[in-house]
Parts: sequence; C-alpha cells; structure tokens
Amino acid sequence: MEQLARQLRALNIPFRTSEPLAPHTSFKVGGPAALFAEPRTIDELRAVLSLCREQDVPSVILGGGTNLLVSDKGFPGVVLRLAGEFNTFFYHGSTVDCGAGVQLSSLAVDVCRRGLCNLEFAVGIPGTLGGALVMNAGAHGREIGRIVLEALVLDRYLLPQVLSRQQLHFAYRQSDLPVGSIVCRVKLGLSHGQKEEIREKCRQNFRLRRERQPRQASAGSVFRNPPGHAAGRLLEEAGLKGQREGNAMISTIHANFIVNCGNATSADILALIKTARSAVREKYGVELELEIRLLGE
Ligand SMILES: Cc1cc2nc3c(=O)[nH]c(=O)nc-3n(C[C@H](O)[C@H](O)[C@H](O)COP(=O)(O)OP(=O)(O)OC[C@H]3O[C@@H](n4cnc5c(N)ncnc54)[C@H](O)[C@@H]3O)c2cc1C
Repeated sequence: MEQLARQLRALNIPFRTSEPLAPHTSFKVGGPAALFAEPRTIDELRAVLSLCREQDVPSVILGGGTNLLVSDKGFPGVVLRLAGEFNTFFYHGSTVDCGAGVQLSSLAVDVCRRGLCNLEFAVGIPGTLGGALVMNAGAHGREIGRIVLEALVLDRYLLPQVLSRQQLHFAYRQSDLPVGSIVCRVKLGLSHGQKEEIREKCRQNFRLRRERQPRQASAGSVFRNPPGHAAGRLLEEAGLKGQREGNAMISTIHANFIVNCGNATSADILALIKTARSAVREKYGVELELEIRLLGE
C-alpha cells in the first residue's frame, strides 16, 4: 500500500490512508479503508484502478454509502469515491448528462425546479446517481432504469463503453452492469411539464417518505421484496419490530429498516439480519435476500 500511496502522490491524485468508512455510510458503522482515493477525472480513475491491478490490491467504488454495510474490520484495499468532474451535470433540452457522483436527490430537486419531470420519485432517495443506476433505485412505483438513455462506463479492461438502457437490463432493484464496470456518467431522458404539478408531486413524495421511514441512521430497506410479498410486512408479522441486537434495532416504524440506535457495530446489524431471516423462514418458509450490499469481511 505504501508503494501505491507514493505513486498516487506523484500523480497528484487525492487520497488518504486508514480512512474510517463509518462517516461515509448512512448506517454510520464500519472500519477503515486501507486507502481512500478520490479521482476527479476518468483518466485519474483509470490510473488508480490500473495501479491496483498491477499490485493486486482489491478496489471498490463507494457512492453515497447508503446501501452498504461495511464490516467492522473495514476494507483492506482501495475505496474510490468519485469527485471533480463526476459531480457535474449539463442539460441539453430535456436530457440531462450527469456524473455518477452527483447526489440523486439534489439532481431531482434541480430537475423539478426547471419544470422537467420524470425524476419526482427520486426526491429524498439518498445516494449518488452511480449507486442508483447499479441498484435501479426506485420509489412510488417508478425507478431510475426507466429514464436512463445511456451510461458511460469504464469496463473491466478500463476501456470506456457506452451502454444503452437495453444493455443494462434493469430489473427490480438491480441492473446488469457488466462485472467490474464502473459507471462514470449517465444520460437521463426527462420531459417538460407543469412546474406547479411537478412541485406538488415532489412535496407529496417527500411527505410520504417522512411518514413511513425512520429518521435514524439506516441503509434503507435491508431485504429485497420476495416475489409476491413485501419484506417489511413479513418481518412485521413475524413480530420483529423493535427487536434489538446490541445497538442495532429493527425499526418500529418500518420493519424492513434496521436502525443504528447509537454506537451499533456492523456485527450487531449482521446478527439482527440473521435473526430476522430465521424468524421469517420459520414462520413463512420464505428466504429473505439482502438488498443492502456487504463490504469487507
Ligand atoms: C433513508 C434511506 C432511504 C432509502 N430509500 C430508498 C428508496 O426509496 N428506493 C431505493 O431504491 N433505495 C433506497 N435507499 C437505498 C439507497 O439509497 C439506494 O440503493 C441508492 O441508490 C444507493 O446509492 P449509493 O450511491 O449510496 O450507493 P452505495 O451504497 O455507495 O453503493 C451501492 C453499490 O453500488 C456500487 N456503486 C456505487 N457507485 C458506483 C459506480 N459509479 N459504478 C459502479 N458501481 C457503483 C457500490 O460499489 C455498491 O456495490 C434508501 C436508503 C436510505 C438510507
């Protein structure tokens, strides 16, 4: 890692070593990244990744960290957070060309203010556009995949590729991003609408979110909805609301949210996930799958 640090310094690419990851996640748990780099351009991103490969150092992209559970031991490789040009967006008529590091909710607010629609559902969804594309984030019956026109990605060979919506095969809370690819920019198709109507829809979506979701630190829905079921309902009917493990608790407001009540650890949250899964398996014979992603061991 020292060699990599020296090389990044020589290339003037911002990085820090032993960076605690908890503050970079919405759960506020997890140990440090051995190295945390913030490439500002595609060339810098490619440079970091190619050094990692040469030196056999594992790397991972962190968006807003709002769908992630980082291990208490952290991540022994390089965590990359997109900065600089990845945080820019440009309008071309009713299309927006947006860097993958842009916060989805801020983009949604800006789009709505301009009297453009299709992104009202995203007001209040935390995280970046890159993370949203990977997870096919959605709410209120809409999802990001439906409005993606194309995405510029860096593929596993570190070559830029433009992928169409069809090539990304969006499905419920997932996209078919080729293994090892990194989303750099995304073009979204919007349409012109009535400003007041758009504003009202945003307000309504935001209100519903505030009413139905806990305010404490969480990573949103922990489990995917199994076919024909709502994970939250199964968890609630299995009597899990309020169940605790250390400082982690199954929310009393929404049973598919695990909240950090203070100084929860990743181990507390994993133990609660295990308890929840076995309770639902026992009562309904349904195997719950994780929606959140795990980082580190
Ligand atoms: C309070 C709360 C409410 C939420 N509500 C919703 C909701 O209504 N609907 C919903 O769908 N989700 C919701 N979520 C979950 C989360 O916000 C979304 O999944 C979000 O899109 C994740 O984006 P992120 O940038 O935080 O991704 P991260 O959590 O940082 O990363 C998620 C995955 O994507 C990968 N990734 C991130 N960026 C890139 C990139 N540029 N290229 C390649 N891979 C990348 C990461 O490596 C990781 O595997 C909620 C979360 C919270 C905390």
